[in-house]
Amino acid sequence: MYRRRRIVVFGGVAVVIVVIVIMLVSLLTPKPPGGPSPSPSSSPAPSPTPSGSPSPKPTASKTPSPEPTPSFDKTAHSIDNADSIWVVVNKLRALDPIDYAPDDLVYPDVVNINNQPMRQQTADALVTMFDAAAADDIGLTVQSAYRSYATQVSVYAGWVDSEGQEAADLTSARPGHSEHQTGLAVDVSGSSGECSLQICFGGTVYGKWLAENSWKYGFIVRYPDGFTDVTGYEYEGYHMRFVGITLATEMHDTKVPTLEQFFDLPDAPSYE
Ligand SMILES: [Zn+2]
Repeated sequence: MYRRRRIVVFGGVAVVIVVIVIMLVSLLTPKPPGGPSPSPSSSPAPSPTPSGSPSPKPTASKTPSPEPTPSFDKTAHSIDNADSIWVVVNKLRALDPIDYAPDDLVYPDVVNINNQPMRQQTADALVTMFDAAAADDIGLTVQSAYRSYATQVSVYAGWVDSEGQEAADLTSARPGHSEHQTGLAVDVSGSSGECSLQICFGGTVYGKWLAENSWKYGFIVRYPDGFTDVTGYEYEGYHMRFVGITLATEMHDTKVPTLEQFFDLPDAPSYE
């Protein structure tokens, strides 16, 4: 008796549930077109749109939110050691030893006009950067890279011969004071050769691409426009200096244009 009643009750409940489910399903099922005066929003509200919304999520997580640098460690690498990727060389800071030569020079697989090598880390970063530029239809080549102390002796002497010492000091470093001797500096040209090694390079599509993107690969435009009094050199939009992604990113984010300013070093407009 009790059991029968229970069965009956359960049966009734089950029927009610089934009816409710059927009603819900019929309510949720998209009505066929031409239904009796559906609300105007019926057709533009297809359920696939909301269900497609999860796709933007990965995009959002990909964008690395500008993570606040917890007080950048300016002593992570030496600025004095000639082997350091942060070494600061200028007219007041000679390399030590003055005839320093890196021991990991390589020739990256890129167009290399003067066929000069560079340090391994510089080469790796450069290839990545050139690939990225190529993907943006910007063809880049290496104009010059490592120059030994002995080479710099003759390069500088050549400039003095042709331009006089004062003019020479604005474009060419004295031996022992050149970033090119570190193996971390590369003069980059555009595939067209436009404004190669000239001030106007900064205005070319190549120079603009480098100014905008080189930091992502660990390079800085070492002699930026308007900072001759700090660096001692005229604007060289083509002279890329490898410092590593960490420092290049920090300088980019904090908008500090020169190594001298970043490391609170004295301006180096001329030799003492
Ligand atoms: Zn250079």
